[in-house]
Amino acid sequence: NPSLSSLLVVFTVSGGSLLAYSEANASTQLSSAVASEDGKKKKRVVVLGTGWAGTSFLKSLKDPSYDVQVISPRNYFAFTPLLPSVTCGTVEPRSIVEPIRNIVRKKNVDIHFWEAECFKIDAANKKVYCKPTQGGKMDGNSEFVVDYDYLVVAMGARANTFNTPGVEENCHFLKEIEDAQRIRRTVINCFERASLPNLTDEERRRVLTFVIVGGGPTGVEFAAELHDFISEDLVKLYPKAKDLVKITLLEAGDHILNMFDKRITVFAEGKFKRDGIDLKMGSMVVKVSDSVISTKDVKTGEVSSLPYGMVVWSTGIGTRPVIMDFMKQVGQVNRRVLATDEWLRVERTDSIYALGDCATINQRKVMEDISEIFSKADKDSSGTLTVKEFQEALDDICERYPQMELYLKNKKMSSLVDILKESKGDIAKESIELNIEDFKLALSQVDSQMKNLPATAQVAAQQGAYLASCFNRMEECEKNPEGPVRFRESGRHRFKPFRYKHLGQFAPLGGEQTAAQLPGDWVSIGHSSQWLWYSVYASKLVSWRTRALVITDWTRRFIFGRDSSQI
Ligand code: FAD
Repeated sequence: NPSLSSLLVVFTVSGGSLLAYSEANASTQLSSAVASEDGKKKKRVVVLGTGWAGTSFLKSLKDPSYDVQVISPRNYFAFTPLLPSVTCGTVEPRSIVEPIRNIVRKKNVDIHFWEAECFKIDAANKKVYCKPTQGGKMDGNSEFVVDYDYLVVAMGARANTFNTPGVEENCHFLKEIEDAQRIRRTVINCFERASLPNLTDEERRRVLTFVIVGGGPTGVEFAAELHDFISEDLVKLYPKAKDLVKITLLEAGDHILNMFDKRITVFAEGKFKRDGIDLKMGSMVVKVSDSVISTKDVKTGEVSSLPYGMVVWSTGIGTRPVIMDFMKQVGQVNRRVLATDEWLRVERTDSIYALGDCATINQRKVMEDISEIFSKADKDSSGTLTVKEFQEALDDICERYPQMELYLKNKKMSSLVDILKESKGDIAKESIELNIEDFKLALSQVDSQMKNLPATAQVAAQQGAYLASCFNRMEECEKNPEGPVRFRESGRHRFKPFRYKHLGQFAPLGGEQTAAQLPGDWVSIGHSSQWLWYSVYASKLVSWRTRALVITDWTRRFIFGRDSSQI
């Protein structure tokens, strides 16, 4: 009853402190009124999201002087790198999730969790609007509003369909636990349907055609998992399906895993071909109906159709509507993700931070930094530097932006000349004096190809830990505005800016083989890397409980194979 609810004021005691709720027009106001032990009002930090970035922030936050409110439609943290293993039953879904309340329970910090989805951020009034959810879905029409002093936006991203017709309705995505469970059921269902007596061979072939769109790490890992599931387990139970089943991977670019070292790409493509996985490069999906996927050849423009039984769409990440709305509000238009500065503060806002897949450090800022590095290196202000000076400046840039170094290494561009060749194609000698403006232009082209930090768990987790370390020292810094010497370095801000440290990446390729690209340009492919993968992922799991469950799942799979019951 809106008229009644508008009068309702409820007080509740939480964690020894008083919270005031007032309900107005079916929306509840959760105002910040929590006091610390010394009677001072605690600053409220609202964290949106319990994924890699949000959880890492919460785990690393140690300062008890904050009142922390966490809002997320899921009351758990999911270890996404093992999601592809869930699609085929190698690992069970509950083994890779940990209740968020378990993760934050031991802390001496006041942390309250609300299972809800934020649908609006009001930056001007420092409020977020939320709707309760159940199992990740909005639950009814009730709303509540939470005030904040600091807002940490860590809402991740959604699947990107590029507005391709029919994708939303007919394809599976692989972002959430539910997606992985749905895929597992659908794969088994396809084998059961193909076994029914009333189907023609052509129809059976269609039902057993599995299409994966996107040759990035997730698409490739899923294709490898599916291939193993079929060849190691399902063909034993459905022997007639053996000659009919087909896995096709569609990639719009020239190669799969193109963010990895070329040696890994070549190995992966060779292995997939040997495994009978049909790789179709230069194939852009233009439409998906309920049984046929239409693709266009990027070079010839020829359109072809492929009947399918299941499509998994894995072509990168798109923007959540609430983030899109927020970007408009703060004047960040025509962007895919929120732009932040190097301290992860959302540009054009006050007290709002964004991290993980929903944010990126603004590239304009990066180019300003690059210019500053060159100006410093150009001691005689002549506008030219020697090759040695250029190389030193480049080393400085790579140190500040490890993603630049990664990009150069992946492209095998080790020298300045390589970079200039890439962009201009007419530089042959290394002994010439190079013009700063030419070089900046070349670098900006490398930079725009390199785009932003990769949207990975590694980046999100490091950003979460970095931001928490800033919050842990915020009070100390506020008391001493000049800042202790160690924070003063950049002169722009009291904390050192965020620096990403790349620890390497894996690409599991099936058949107990993994490709690993580790720092220092070290590449390892094969069975030994698979064991490294097992060890790294087991150690990175968020709790001993999940670690024990995942190791048990792996052992079960080694001994008994994967379960093909459709439950
Ligand atoms: P997420 O982890 O997606 O978390 C977002 C959080 O926000 C979730 O808790 C969500 O419920 C919540 N949320 C969503 N909407 C709202 C809302 N409206 N209000 C409040 N909360 C909201 N990275 C690697 O480094 N290595 C890997 O091997 C790897 N493998 C992957 C495999 C798969 C299948 C996938 C999908 C991703 C993989 N990634 C991997 C990428 C990695 O998972 C992401 O980069 C990482 O999850 C980003 O962290 P995040 O915190 O920004 O977002």
